[in-house]
Amino acid sequence: MSEQKQPQQQQKKKKASPQVWKFYKSEGSDLKRLRKECPRCGKGFFLAEHKDRLTCGHCGYTSFKSH
Ligand SMILES: [Zn+2]
Repeated sequence: MSEQKQPQQQQKKKKASPQVWKFYKSEGSDLKRLRKECPRCGKGFFLAEHKDRLTCGHCGYTSFKSH
């Protein structure tokens, strides 16, 4: 229980997309997955991407990104 909030000191320029909830990208007839799925909830439940982690809004699963 020692989660610290780190100040935003390393701001990398990312493409700021307003369409955060666009999980699929359609290319022709193919649907490409852009997000990881939740290992707990399984198919259809995607992890929301944050600056340093991925979270599932369904079960609360959190996966921290490694640098
Ligand atoms: Zn989940």
